[in-house]
Amino acid sequence: MTCYEVAVAAPLFQTLTYAAPEDGGVSPIIPGVRVLVPLGGRTVTGYLLGAAGDLPDDPSVLKPILEVVDETPLFPETLIPFYRWIASYYQYPIGEVIKTALPGGLTAASRRRILLTARGKDFFGGIPPYPWAENLIVKGELTAAATRKLWRTELRRVCEKWQKEELVSIVEEVSRGAVRSRTETCIALAESREFALLTPSERKSCSILSDLLGDEKNHGVVPRRQLIEIYPGAGRALKGLAAKGVIILSERAVYRDPFGETPPGIHRAVTLTEEQQAVMDKVLPSLDSRKFNPFLLHGVTGSGKTEIYLRAAAATLGNSRSVLVLVPEIALASHLEGQFVARFGERVALLHSGLSSGERFDQWMRIVRGDADVVIGARSALFAPLRDPGLIIVDEEHESAYKQEDGFRYHGRDLAVLRASQQNSVVILGSATPSVSSFYHTETGKYRLLTLTKRIENRPLPEIEMVDLRKIPTVSGAPPLFSPQLVAALKETLAASEQSLLFLNRRGYANLMFCRSCGQSIQCPNCRVAMTVHRKRGKLLCHYCSSTRAVTRHCPLCQSDQVAGMGFGTERIEDELKKILPSARTGRLDRDTCANRRDFLAMLKAMHNNEIDVLVGTQIIAKGHHFPRVTLVGIVWADAGLGMPDFRAGERTFQLISQVGGRAGRGERPGRVIIQTHQPDHDSIRLAEKNDFHGLYQQELKLRRGLGYPPFGRLINLRIEGEREDSVIEAAQRIAQAGHDLIKQYKTGRIELLGPAPAPMAMLRGRHRWQVLLKGGDCDSLHRFCAHLVRETKIRDRLVSVSIDVDPENMM
Ligand code: ADP
Ligand code: ZN
Ligand code: ZN
Repeated sequence: MTCYEVAVAAPLFQTLTYAAPEDGGVSPIIPGVRVLVPLGGRTVTGYLLGAAGDLPDDPSVLKPILEVVDETPLFPETLIPFYRWIASYYQYPIGEVIKTALPGGLTAASRRRILLTARGKDFFGGIPPYPWAENLIVKGELTAAATRKLWRTELRRVCEKWQKEELVSIVEEVSRGAVRSRTETCIALAESREFALLTPSERKSCSILSDLLGDEKNHGVVPRRQLIEIYPGAGRALKGLAAKGVIILSERAVYRDPFGETPPGIHRAVTLTEEQQAVMDKVLPSLDSRKFNPFLLHGVTGSGKTEIYLRAAAATLGNSRSVLVLVPEIALASHLEGQFVARFGERVALLHSGLSSGERFDQWMRIVRGDADVVIGARSALFAPLRDPGLIIVDEEHESAYKQEDGFRYHGRDLAVLRASQQNSVVILGSATPSVSSFYHTETGKYRLLTLTKRIENRPLPEIEMVDLRKIPTVSGAPPLFSPQLVAALKETLAASEQSLLFLNRRGYANLMFCRSCGQSIQCPNCRVAMTVHRKRGKLLCHYCSSTRAVTRHCPLCQSDQVAGMGFGTERIEDELKKILPSARTGRLDRDTCANRRDFLAMLKAMHNNEIDVLVGTQIIAKGHHFPRVTLVGIVWADAGLGMPDFRAGERTFQLISQVGGRAGRGERPGRVIIQTHQPDHDSIRLAEKNDFHGLYQQELKLRRGLGYPPFGRLINLRIEGEREDSVIEAAQRIAQAGHDLIKQYKTGRIELLGPAPAPMAMLRGRHRWQVLLKGGDCDSLHRFCAHLVRETKIRDRLVSVSIDVDPENMM
């Protein structure tokens, strides 16, 4: 008898063993399909991993699989070891790992209803023994909603007892996930055709059809939709034609085309520069080796990294292996995506959050079937179901957007490297400002370093000018938004018909509403952070939980009418800009103006078509874009991120300034960057001014070595959250105490425990947050220690939740 190993989509750390379906099902069942299995009285989705290894002594005790959901596996078997490793490393249930890895909307959930049996009817005689059972006994049924409520209480036991006595039956119904692949009707011409008996409209349909079939792109079939667009009368005629045997109708799976419109700005490089060639000379042999080969490509902005990616991808496809490209977020996807689509066309599949769940599913299935072998996507695309990726590219590898910040907190870049090591692939991590950790690996020999030091065509890197805001006199005492230097530069750029970017990493109008009488700011009641003024919307907005409230002059705390906006965001910058440069055409790119991908692409296009003179934006404008006419970049306030209580704050500020500065002077004319700051002597800002990556790297190493921070040690952050502050504190203390006791048993690995302490964001979305930080010199002991601690303390209960953030990126 064959038994199967199943990972269920539930918080279980082990996989489970089930017997074959009772009806035999399709056998053998292939790994990678979803199954429905019984689990503790419910029906849950599981993922079939293969034949089970360890069987119980008496296999007949095993419950059978209830149903096999898919015919085609959703992931290749080659990914299963990867899932297992991830589950253990991130200490996350394996079924939930797989669920996260698959496109959303695929999980079938079960609903439960309770029905009165004939025997029950007799037994109760229409008289409910308890008030809650009234509907069940009188109407004969408890609805799914009522049952769900009941199931959370002790009364569940009563129902289960009744079920044993066959007074009621509990039925499980599966509501399927919402996503199905879509089909459309397609038309082909039959072999033998008899045209004589056709009606005029049938004849007309046939003639248009023949024209359409003449187009090679159609591969001998035409979608019905396409014909109807040209000739609306064809609908009825098609039925007649099919009946007369002239045409053949079939249903074909369709892909919802996610490209919409090809992004602007695609070029093709013919000859590589010397530096690019040197890089390719190192990469190409390793692509042929079929071994794990990690590279860090450190190339200044505008040095032509994309061309390296494209050529390496082409070589990989030439070896009949597939290519996976990760980009930090939709923002970046557009530029790179355009290049890849231009070069590889139909072979490209896209996976990113800008797609509907149906579109994602379609793209996913194209990859599963092997129709697409170049995948581009954001973080979660690293799980793309490619059987044999020969090349994995992680562009802008330093981006913190690669880290998932809730639920299963994985790091996309780190997992990409891991996947490459398991599948014998080449992995290229690319960046103009590599992360300190990745660069460190090139020094220890773990990664090989590839460098591009020059911009294409020896274009100079932009000239950088620093403006000390402390020396700029102001009337009101508030910091000026625009120094005279910046204003002059904006005017010159406009006069020369060139474009400018103004960067500020804060959206909204004013940063906060401040009461001059009591000194408090208006805070979000759920998160205890200042709410931001959004003038167009006329609202105060919390950037953490999105709750809003009306803008007011009156202080909710002291009732004075001394409340006024302070600080500034991109919305205000754009407003002020219009006053300074009334003739300039301005645009703004941030989450408020470009909530979706279409708006975003439209803004990029306007920029490329030279319909905008000055583009104001948050970090979305900082990365990846190639605007050849931009010659001025103004960084309105470089200090915005420096105050963050996070050991990476300095590194991040450096990266952001370098990246946004890198947008200047990418075309024929040289660029300049103006950095406005109150802290011109701050190391990160000084080093960014000199474009000194190595300086920053050395400085960060020195700092981190002393503190045992990555890359010298590993971190795990345990975050304890709950609605009641006292239970959160109590739980955090209990964990910390247990941790201190446990550390004595761990002599190796230099494990340290810091805290408990309130998280920097001590309240978020109405929940109090505390944390315990674990630090260790080596990864294995730290992970073993953490698993041990979590098992010992068993803190998870109704009042508090504990999340395990392995290799945290965000310490807030
Ligand atoms: P990066 O990603 O390193 O910032 P890009 O890959 O966007 O830089 O390249 C910058 C520009 O240089 C692009 O317009 C690209 O088409 C062009 N380019 C790249 N390689 C070459 C080459 N060998 N010859 C000419 N132009 C090139
Ligand atoms: Zn007040
Ligand atoms: Zn909030």
